[in-house]
This record gives sequence, structure tokens and C-alpha cells, in this order.
Amino acid sequence: PETPDIIPEPPAFYDEGALVGVLTTQPLGKPLDYRAPEGGAWAGAFVEVPLGPRKVAGVVWGAGQGDYDMSKVRSVIRVLDAPPMRDELRIFIEKAAAYTLTPLPAMLRLATRAPGLGDPPSMRKVYRRGEGEPERMTDARARVLDAAEEIGGLALTLKELADAAGVTPQVVKGLVKTGAILEEESPRDTPFPRLDPDLPGKPLTDDQARATETLRAGQRSGRYGTTLLKGVTGSGKTEVYLEAVAECLRQGRQALVLLPEIALTAEFLTRVEARFGAKPAEWHSGVTMTERRRVWRMAAEGRAQMMIGARSALFLPFQDLGLVVVDEEHDTSYKQEDGVLYNARDMAVLRASILDARVVLASATPSLESWANADAGKYERLDLTSRFGPAILPEMRTIDMRDQDLPSNRWVSPALARAVRDRLAKGEQAMLFLNRRGYAPVTLCRACGQQIACEHCDARMVEHRFLKRLVCHQCGESRPIPTACPSCEVEGKLAAVGPGVERMAEEAAALFPDARVAVLSSDLFGTARELKAQIEAIAAGAADIIIGTQLVAKGHNFPLLTLVGVIDADLGLQGSDLRAAERTFQLMRQVAGRAGRAERPGLALLQTFQPEHPVIRAILGGDEEAFWRAEAAERRATGMPPYGRLAGIILSGPEAGPVFDLGMALARNDAPLRRVGAQVFGPAPAPIARVRGRHRVRLLVKAPKGVALQSALAEWVAPVRLKGDLRLAIDIDPQSF
Ligand code: ADP
Ligand code: ZN
Repeated sequence: PETPDIIPEPPAFYDEGALVGVLTTQPLGKPLDYRAPEGGAWAGAFVEVPLGPRKVAGVVWGAGQGDYDMSKVRSVIRVLDAPPMRDELRIFIEKAAAYTLTPLPAMLRLATRAPGLGDPPSMRKVYRRGEGEPERMTDARARVLDAAEEIGGLALTLKELADAAGVTPQVVKGLVKTGAILEEESPRDTPFPRLDPDLPGKPLTDDQARATETLRAGQRSGRYGTTLLKGVTGSGKTEVYLEAVAECLRQGRQALVLLPEIALTAEFLTRVEARFGAKPAEWHSGVTMTERRRVWRMAAEGRAQMMIGARSALFLPFQDLGLVVVDEEHDTSYKQEDGVLYNARDMAVLRASILDARVVLASATPSLESWANADAGKYERLDLTSRFGPAILPEMRTIDMRDQDLPSNRWVSPALARAVRDRLAKGEQAMLFLNRRGYAPVTLCRACGQQIACEHCDARMVEHRFLKRLVCHQCGESRPIPTACPSCEVEGKLAAVGPGVERMAEEAAALFPDARVAVLSSDLFGTARELKAQIEAIAAGAADIIIGTQLVAKGHNFPLLTLVGVIDADLGLQGSDLRAAERTFQLMRQVAGRAGRAERPGLALLQTFQPEHPVIRAILGGDEEAFWRAEAAERRATGMPPYGRLAGIILSGPEAGPVFDLGMALARNDAPLRRVGAQVFGPAPAPIARVRGRHRVRLLVKAPKGVALQSALAEWVAPVRLKGDLRLAIDIDPQSF
């Protein structure tokens, strides 16, 4: 997004009876007019208002519009007990909504996800695990005790605990009588321990010290600026940006670090504690509701100095946010792909620009967008070119699969197997990487030739042998693995075709019978805690061979790991997505970067049928900048992002016909787009043409940089009347094109 130059007006106060606009999360589009309550209200105050027969919470957005029948305007019921939302956050919500073409209420919801707003916390009863054991144990009771233990020492409200266990509140109440669950008054928010930026950090290398100095100077400027911190895996990017955090804390401002994966937080918390003497606050889906309420308040009151979190942490009501770090900034999980479609990396830049805060985008393999912004001088760029200490970058080689003699249903080539054996003999770890969850991607009937597909999606059912089920990776639907073909009903002819990580585990067990094999795949772990525990165990040496999906590519440190074997380096290069080269390059480099992070040198072996492919050569080759320049040149020549702008329009509905017709009508009436020099392509079936029983069609709009694309899009879709169950979603800057 462009960086607006906004000076917030001083906060306004509205006297009793004055007309105010109150924005709620109800889908009404804009703020509604109310009269300020007795005692008045500040702009940004959280209030309770009548809405039809109901009472809902909302935020005083500003002065009322007065465009409503004045005799019908009702009064705000009361001002809630919550820190008011600052001008800055309201401006951010407005800008983010305008950029992503999201209705304001939906954007507000992202910023008010702390439940229980307004209920004074001291009035609440909370529940936690006690010492006692019930005499009579039932399934429901066991689930409550499990749920209470799962969240550690934290207390939940009655409803939260009952919901977490999937039982009625009565079951929890029953356990209170036995002493197995304790009922307590919720304590007033306990503050976080202080982080001390002046504790001595690690002595830095010359490279690191130079980068640190530049980041510190930027931080001290007190002005907006974004820095791309590009450093090979293991070069100490984290050490460097923690010094920017230290500088921010010294200024008395708050720092936010976004991580792409919750499983990464454990290691990160430990590092923060080592540097600053205390742990930061956390905000992500693994944080309990009670804790979220506390974190939300602490952020607003400036008592949480440092926050680490998932993309949604960007919408927290910080009192004085001075720095946002986006770690692994290229990671696709920063783009939220359902509900509000936004990219946290871009929104971080937007919010920082409103706040006069700094942004650090850290990655070994930046997105082409960030690379190009640095190239154009919009972002500052800092490079760390060597790994810290004795660790050197892994050597990378290809294994030409055309030369390898492999029996059918085997995927580990003799050359790769030799390398694995060699590592095992030395007591080191090896990783086999395959970006495919489950046992086999295809289940095929050898009698009729049909593949088993999802009934609701345009996708195959994937066999998950550990779960003993077929699972659709699009909608999550699953069913037991049948013995007979669902099409021809012939028994015993179903065959698993192709490899998934579970099948790799089988092959590894057969090839290396003495090795301990661990599979790391998101669907094998019920909770983030289990996954975290498994990662820690592996790092400590509890496995010899790690088999993983892209989950393992994301920045984990396995000190004993010295070999990475990529089972199918060609996988990402198939298909027509223009980003395929960029994605494959990033993924392969990231995976290879897992090897040899400590003293022992690492080796990465890429199994490929096309070793001459320019992307495969770029992955191996030293000249990374040449790869980025070539990619950039191609995108520039075709006017594609980041040198042009794209928006996707996804239309969906239960019947294919009306969805397609609507797409055709939109494509025909493209005058508002043509006026700004934008072109529309499609309608065409969306990358996944049917999901959850809904047919999906996509139009792509391509525009030169610098045109007012959003307003043209808004004008273009404004006449659309969605009949029946048709839906329209706009995806600004789509991930795939
Ligand atoms: P990156 O984020 O670039 O992958 P890290 O910051 O995780 O790199 O550093 C890789 C490893 O090297 C970590 O274990 C880190 O503690 C260590 N390290 C990096 N720089 C230093 C330093 N200056 N002194 C001591 N250890 C360091
Ligand atoms: Zn499905």
C-alpha cells in the first residue's frame, strides 16, 4: 500500500446529547447515529448501544452524520470499561478497509476480538484445575479435566471451559463440588514482568553490528521507515532485529514481532527471555480467551512492552507501537485467505506509516514484492551474507532422477539413501522433505480407473493412513477408507498412487530399519502444544530421520541435522501459476537452510527430473540476485505484480451456471475499469473450481501501477445484485496468478 501522511486530530469529546457515529461489528456498512450518554463520551470509546431489540457493543467512531430522522435517534446506553480505541487505530481500520475493499464492520471485528469487553474482570468467576479427583469419572468429566490441564495454570470462564471440553456448564459445576475444578474470583490483570533492553546482548559480528547500527539509527529517527533485512538462514537476523526491539523499548515504545507459525514461538520466547530477562506477551490462536483479554488490555495500556504473535496481532490496540518485525516475511501464511482477505506484511507497513513507526521485514528469501521495493529505494535494505560462527551454508546438489533405477512405489533414490546412511552412521540427523500431507495424493480403482474425489470439492480425497481416513484438503471432509470402489463397487482394487509424507515414513522404515523416524506434518498434531513438544524432542535428538511437509521449512533449529533430501524438487514447478518459480526458489532454499546449522557442515540433495530447469539451477547457483533480477524483468515485461497491480474477483454459488453468467456480465460491463486503464481477464474456473459444494469462478483485473484501482473496482461491482446464494469476494493482490 502507499504510505499516507496523516496527522491525527486531537481526540474529540462529545457532551451528553451530542450526535455521535457508533460503528459496530454488525454488517450495516457504516457508523450509525446515536446521542452521547450521560457524562459524554470520547471519540474511540467502547459503548453499548441499542440496535433494534438488541444491545450491542460498538466504538464511537466520530461525530454523527445527522442524515437520519432526528426524532428516532436513540441514546448510547453506557460507556464500557475498556481503554478507548485511539485515532491511529481507527484510521488504520479505515485505510485497511479501503485498501482491501472490506466493509468497515468486518475490519473492526479484527480489532475487537478480545471477548468480554466491558465486563469488569474482577466481577467474573473463573475456573481452573484443582488438586482433587472426582470419585465418579465420566467421559464428559474427563474431557473437562483434560481441557483444564491443556491450558496450563490459566483460568477460564465457565462457558469457555465448558465449550473447550464440549460439555454443558453443569458438568463443570459438578466437578467444582469434587474439588477437581476450582472456582475463583478472577484476579485483576496481573502485569507482565518488565523486559530490560539494557541487559548485555550477545557480542555481534562485524556484519551484524553494522546492520544493528543502521536499524538503531532508524528506530531513533522516530519516523516511518521499512527495512528489508535479508540474511542467509543462520546469519543472525533474529539477533539483529532483537537489537532494534531493544532500541524501541528504550524509547518507551512497544514492539510487535510477527511469526508465521505458532510452533516457532516456543524457541523464540526463550531467546527473548535470554536477551531481555523476561518473556513477551503472546497473541495467537493458541492463547486462551482469559489470557487474550489480559493481553488486549495490557497492549492498550502500554503495559505489554513486547508482543509476539500471528497476523491478527497487527490489529491490537497498542498504546504506542514503535516497531513491527515481520519474520520470514515471504511466508504465504501472512495472507489471510478467508473472511477478510489481507496481507499482514502490507498492513504492517500501512499501520507503521500512520504511527511513525519502523518496520523490519526479515527473510533469507524475500518476496519479490519486498525485493523490488528495496530495489526501487522505497525500503532500506540490509544484508547478512554469512552464517554465524563455524556454521557454513549447506552445499546443494541435484540428483538426476532420470539416471536412478527405482522400483515402482519407491521414491528415495539409491544416491539419497547412501547419503542418509552415511549421516546415520555418524550419529547425525537427516531430513526427507516432501510437501504432501497424508499417505498418498491419489486413491485409484484398478478395476474402473476412477480416482476417489471429494463430493463437495473439485479435489481428490487424500489417504491418511495414520487417521485411517480419506480426507479432503480443501473442505476437511473425511470418511473411512473404503474397501470397495465407490464408483464400480469392485472390492479390493483400490490402490494408493504417489507419495505423501506418511508413505515416505514407511519407505524410510524399510530402507533404514534401525533408524528412529519422526513425521512432522500439521495434521498429525492435535494441538500446537503437541507439535511444539515434538519439535523440541527432535531438536534434542529423539529422532534420526525427520520426514516433513513445509511445516519443517519454517525456521526451526535442529542442531544435529546435516542432510536434507528433497524428494521431489519439481513439485512446485508444475502448474501455470506465475509465482511458481519464486515459491519453489524460496521453499527449496528454506528447506536446505535447515541443514548444518551448528558446527557440522550441511548438505542438501534435490531429486529432480529436470536438473537443467532455470529455477533448479538458480536454487543451486550462487547468484541469487541474478535470479531475482530475471524474475523481476519478466514481471515488469508482462506488467504483473509488483510492477503492475492485480485483483481477483471470486464469484461462488451452489450452481455453476448463474455463477458463470454473473462473471460474464461483469466482464462485459467493464467500463469503470477501462477508464483507469485496467483490463479484466476471465471469467475462468477458480484455481479450485468447487469447494464445499460451491462452484467458483474467478476474474482477474490487471491495472498499471498508480491507478486508483480500488475505487474503479468498487464502481464496477456496485451494480451487482447477488441473487439467491451467490457470493462475491474481492482479493486485492492475490497470492496466485
Ligand atoms: P537467522 O534468524 O538469520 O536464521 P539466528 O538469529 O537464528 O539466524 O542465528 C542462528 C544461530 O546463531 C542462533 O542459534 C543464534 O543464537 C546464533 N547466533 C547468531 N549470532 C550470534 C552472535 N553474535 N553470538 C552468538 N550466537 C549467535
Ligand atoms: Zn472437499
